[in-house]
Amino acid sequence: MTMASYLTGLIGSGIGPSLSPALHEREADRHALRLLYRTLDIDTLEEGPEAVGELIRAARTLGFDGLNITHPCKQLVIEHLDGLSPEAAALGAVNTVVFRDGRAVGHNTDVTGFAQSFSRGLPGAATDRIVQLGAGGAGAAVAHALLALGADRLTVADRDPARAAALAAALNARFDGRRAHAAAMQELPAHVARADGLVHATPTGMAAHPGLPLPTGLLRPSMWVAEVVYRPLDTELVRLARELGCRVLDGGGMAVFQAADAFRLFTGREPHPELMLDDLADLVAAPSL
Ligand code: NAD
Repeated sequence: MTMASYLTGLIGSGIGPSLSPALHEREADRHALRLLYRTLDIDTLEEGPEAVGELIRAARTLGFDGLNITHPCKQLVIEHLDGLSPEAAALGAVNTVVFRDGRAVGHNTDVTGFAQSFSRGLPGAATDRIVQLGAGGAGAAVAHALLALGADRLTVADRDPARAAALAAALNARFDGRRAHAAAMQELPAHVARADGLVHATPTGMAAHPGLPLPTGLLRPSMWVAEVVYRPLDTELVRLARELGCRVLDGGGMAVFQAADAFRLFTGREPHPELMLDDLADLVAAPSL
């Protein structure tokens, strides 16, 4: 019997250390599938991010089954696709492309991945008032997921106020009820004081950007805290919030569920996100990182 085989990969900048190849290939091994996951780093190409169109055409010709797309190509890739999923169309960003039946279709599993991680990791969490710090690529996906899950009021702050304002406006254009608001960084204390939960979506806390994204005194034990940073899993924010007694969601769930959703799209097989979470914890803890 011939073993099913898949050719997949990731397009983006600085993706050498990505954990996606290992996450996808380990999951494929559990299904006894032959799946290769290659990194296609645009930094090695003269054209830069604009090369994404060329890479999509080449991947299609070479028989790739699918690709993940990351910074800075999530928007640039759209004009090179034949169709978009509802999430990708609404957000205007694609992190997964599936090549099937002669078509290239874009999806956004950052949105679906965060939504599943949130529902699994913080069941029953109150979402009347949420404060989100960070309005970049991850922030846009997370905010979309939170409003889709029914959050009543989402206040977004970013050190670039124009980004927070643009994200709130885009969300309000997409969802009923003007539920998104932009706030200045100085207004953060007042908003956090009334919030059920805080979502952190800036790079602060990554190994390369250590530290806390907001003054420690603002957190209360009655709040939940959701982090998007996952390298390390235990960021300073995650550790501090746990010590205080907050319900805490680390960034690993979003990373795993977005990969699991992409794996399902690439292969049609039902992934094992609980086992992928163990894989991620192993990979993040590996000394080479
Ligand atoms: P980005 O550069 O697109 O956006 C970051 C935003 O944070 C920017 O708008 C910036 O102005 C703002 N910012 C930075 N420092 C700030 C601070 N101290 N206070 C307020 N605002 C600040 O980056 P991104 O792609 O959104 O990634 C953000 C983080 O999310 C990264 O650590 C990335 O690794 C992580 N991420 C995680 C997942 C996951 O699956 N868990 C997915 C995507 C990204």
